[in-house]
Amino acid sequence: METEERDRLLLAPYAMHAANSAGREHAEPPHPYRSPYQRDRDRVVHSAAFRRLAHKTQVFTGSLGDYHRTRLTHTFEVASVARTVARAIALNEDLVETLALLHDLGHPPFGHAGEEVLDRRLADEGGFNHNQQAVRIATLLERRYPEFPGLNLSAEVLDSQRRRSSKAIGPPSPLLEAQVVDAADSIAYDAHDADDALVLGVLTTDELSDAALWHEATESARRRFANLSGDELRRAAVHALLDRQVDDLIASSAQSLRDAPPASPEEVRHLPRLIGHSDEMTEQKRQLESLLFERVYRHPRVLAHRDEAMSALESLYHETLRRGDLPSPYDGVARAESPRRAAADYVASVTDRFALDPAGADRAAWAGGPA
Ligand code: MG
Repeated sequence: METEERDRLLLAPYAMHAANSAGREHAEPPHPYRSPYQRDRDRVVHSAAFRRLAHKTQVFTGSLGDYHRTRLTHTFEVASVARTVARAIALNEDLVETLALLHDLGHPPFGHAGEEVLDRRLADEGGFNHNQQAVRIATLLERRYPEFPGLNLSAEVLDSQRRRSSKAIGPPSPLLEAQVVDAADSIAYDAHDADDALVLGVLTTDELSDAALWHEATESARRRFANLSGDELRRAAVHALLDRQVDDLIASSAQSLRDAPPASPEEVRHLPRLIGHSDEMTEQKRQLESLLFERVYRHPRVLAHRDEAMSALESLYHETLRRGDLPSPYDGVARAESPRRAAADYVASVTDRFALDPAGADRAAWAGGPA
């Protein structure tokens, strides 16, 4: 079935239909059997920057063991939640999946600690922001095609990613597909950061039960499976934590869409955000997030790694700037923009382990950039 017909049958009028796409910066003939957004998804998955997410910190660094999420597995969990929600409310799943897989592509090593270092170094040159960095990778830094720099993604994909860094609440609103990915990001990290923190022992289930959302998830797991305890109870509670958030997001967003209801993606832009949680869930998530912030992200074991990571990244940045012998395409960035921007682009592209040991024996295999 042609993409256009498929979209018309399966998607709501407020969804982004591929046939209405504004296209790509460099025009390309349509693919015989993949929709434009499927093609975008595949381009993200095949990029070097995407593969390097496997060795980049989400919250906990690699030296804390191998159970917890990396930036890559976080990304897959976001895509999984986002596709579920998109299908339930008849949005474009291919576009949602692309946006989810792209959303953290610009993260430097060591998560927000790494971002802070680069942002400070570029303070008088517009700063460093991981959302904008994903756009730079997708339009300039990734080199996979002889015809153009970047991945030549569809306009809606790039526009949605650009808007991620804007904190504006009111209209113009992002596409509903982009709104779903924002919500799915938060659903995924609230659930997996709680899970990782429990497994790593930086938090106990008793402490986590101060948050009503975790407490209720545990109670519902207990009702469903009598006599669960320990790891079995934790796993069932994490599933319930995800389910409760996803159920709430779908129900609450479906209601807003029925109340509005927007007749097209163009109308969506002029309305306040329609994808969101109920007031009760919003409050419960806020409570869980502040608990995670205080007791997990500020935990001495996490902070100790943070300091080590930040100084490793500082040194790599200064060393890169001092040497000034960056490979393509960073040498071009140094000439066209500035040596500092080029150094930040390069440093942001490398993995945690490269940043910790840039002189290591496998330097060639580890190095950043679009190999
Ligand atoms: Mg994320």
